[in-house]
Amino acid sequence: MSVCARCDREFNAWALSLKGSPFGGHVICQKCRAVATRGSKRPAAKFTEYDIVQIRKRNAAGESQKSLAREYGVTDSNINLICRRRSWRHVA
Ligand SMILES: [Zn+2]
Repeated sequence: MSVCARCDREFNAWALSLKGSPFGGHVICQKCRAVATRGSKRPAAKFTEYDIVQIRKRNAAGESQKSLAREYGVTDSNINLICRRRSWRHVA
């Protein structure tokens, strides 16, 4: 077992594919890792799968990609990629 450097909870470091020794340096649990990597590194993570479905539906119903982009706080091209299924292709 190892102790997470962020939340101080014990977790099984062996379950993670950590580089180097899991006991050296700062080790963080899977939950904290997910929080830490959310955001700027993965822009698509701004959305949930539900959002993607809504965006495509509303665009198909005639809402402009520009107004959807403004509402979700992303760029027009981001919405465009979603509507053209160039991103989030795994979502129906
Ligand atoms: Zn943690």
